[in-house]
Amino acid sequence: MFKIALNAGHGINTPGKRCLKTIDKNETREWYLNQRICNKIQEKLKAYTGYELIRLDDTTGKTDISLKTRTDKANKFGADFYLAIHHNAGVGGKSGGGVISIVYKTVKEGTVTASWQKDLYDAVIKNTGLKGNRSVPLQKQDLHEVRESKMPAVLLECGFMDSKTDTPIILTEDFADKTAKAVVEVIVKKANLKLKNIPAREKPKTTQKPLNNTEKSNSEIANEVIRGLWGNGEERKVRLGSAGYNYSEIQSLVNSILSKKG
Ligand SMILES: [Zn+2]
Repeated sequence: MFKIALNAGHGINTPGKRCLKTIDKNETREWYLNQRICNKIQEKLKAYTGYELIRLDDTTGKTDISLKTRTDKANKFGADFYLAIHHNAGVGGKSGGGVISIVYKTVKEGTVTASWQKDLYDAVIKNTGLKGNRSVPLQKQDLHEVRESKMPAVLLECGFMDSKTDTPIILTEDFADKTAKAVVEVIVKKANLKLKNIPAREKPKTTQKPLNNTEKSNSEIANEVIRGLWGNGEERKVRLGSAGYNYSEIQSLVNSILSKKG
């Protein structure tokens, strides 16, 4: 069972953490953007089995859970992977920005953590196209979450809230969805998660019946055709064919029934 500790950075009312007013008049809170991606990650992971996930943040956003509480919880849980979702600031209303994937400052090349960092960055860029102009998109920093968590930990900054380029993009549902999809792809691959088997009763009903597995006899269908249930001409031909019946067999039955009646 692969254990994931996921969290959305900050809370709704954390001071300062919001989009720049001149770009986004609503001053959308960073927490809102962070939790939207986290929720989508959780939703998409539901299609898979082989993992356990906890959220370290207050999912209502009311409380900005302290970073210590977050990492303590992840450590106690014994998580195999720690992911913090954030959005950045620092472009000051100019253009440019992009996605940044951050690990602790001592992380070495070739380690599991470095591979999470790179794979997440690559997947998010591939899915969203938000490459930006950051010269160091794979950063090593002395941040509490990546330092105090005992497992591979990545803090993903999903674009800038004060960038003319990034902000209109990161506000969209589509961006959140693609980012979550990217994260899930990486988790599925690294944790070797398997798609859940869909129980038979939940299998989507196919509109086309398979050939040679028709439920009604040809004469029943011929009578339905005569009652007008299968349309006429080309429509009849197409509908019978896609339902798995042999059009010419049905049609000759129809003709013979009608000639007997006549
Ligand atoms: Zn943040």
